[in-house]
Amino acid sequence: MLRITKVYRPDNIDEALNIFDDNPGIRPIAGGTDLIIQLSDSLESAMLLDVSRIEKLKKINITGGKLFIGAAATHSSIAKSRKVIESAPLIAESSGIMGGPAIRNRATIGGNVANASPVAESLPTLIAHAAEIVLVSANGLRKMPVEDFHLAPGKTALQSGELILGFEIPVVSEDFFGFYNRLGSRAAVTITKVGVALASIKSGDRLGNVRIALSAVAPRVIRAPETEKIMSGANLDDGLIEQAAKKLVSECTPITDFRSTSEYRSDMVGQLFRMGFGRETPQN
Ligand SMILES: Cc1cc2nc3c(=O)[nH]c(=O)nc-3n(C[C@H](O)[C@H](O)[C@H](O)COP(=O)(O)OP(=O)(O)OC[C@H]3O[C@@H](n4cnc5c(N)ncnc54)[C@H](O)[C@@H]3O)c2cc1C
Repeated sequence: MLRITKVYRPDNIDEALNIFDDNPGIRPIAGGTDLIIQLSDSLESAMLLDVSRIEKLKKINITGGKLFIGAAATHSSIAKSRKVIESAPLIAESSGIMGGPAIRNRATIGGNVANASPVAESLPTLIAHAAEIVLVSANGLRKMPVEDFHLAPGKTALQSGELILGFEIPVVSEDFFGFYNRLGSRAAVTITKVGVALASIKSGDRLGNVRIALSAVAPRVIRAPETEKIMSGANLDDGLIEQAAKKLVSECTPITDFRSTSEYRSDMVGQLFRMGFGRETPQN
């Protein structure tokens, strides 16, 4: 049963941090699309800190070669933002396909990352784009790579009294090459069974600065360092793509659950990777 004892609605960060200080254990809430369901299933009562009125948390802007996306920016606003589409295209793409229109209009990128699901839509694309998470507390700001923030299912490096302010992402260059391919049971309003995001710089037939992030194949969203190494600087032909697809599968440790078997997930990692390069099936 949902038992909410009080909801605070601060207009700015300072006010939010003061409320945090005065009310230990208070839970931040943005769109509520994860939290309200979790609280409904729990016997605990909760006090909530609604961050959705704080303008600074909804901002999307570019400064000094970095795109900033505020934690309370909704997936709809991110998917439609010209700045995000041009500067971090994979993030616009993942926000544009998560849930359905009603969810995207409420749900936020900060909530998605704080919820720390291994199938969270925004995590692989933020990690592929080398995003840093910006955290704010009474002690000031701290930043870390998004891949270090997500520790385990439902667990993050967020400390008590800390809020996610937003994400800083290097603006991509003109020779950016990347893709985000994910598989679900349906085309829309589906939970990801497997997701593969790749970001790189393309120069002729070679890729550089390759970053690959995978969702739903380990307890948290992971990088694929061995595959990144194989891809970086090598000639992008069928042989390389096949070698990399096999290495990528070997870097995953998917589980079998009610959505899929581990074998199917492993197979799909390779397929989604090949699809990113326009190859549909393994090349012999
Ligand atoms: C029908 C449906 C479909 C869905 N489809 C998808 C999908 O396709 N892909 C997907 O990834 N998810 C999906 N979700 C899950 C959910 O919508 C997303 O994870 C969403 O982005 C959560 O954002 P929110 O603003 O609603 O978070 P909330 O529910 O408000 O909060 C989630 C967590 O984040 C914390 N939090 C929120 N903001 C902050 C902040 N600024 N600082 C610190 N902590 C904060 C909260 O305390 C809570 O622990 C779906 C949910 C539903 C109900």
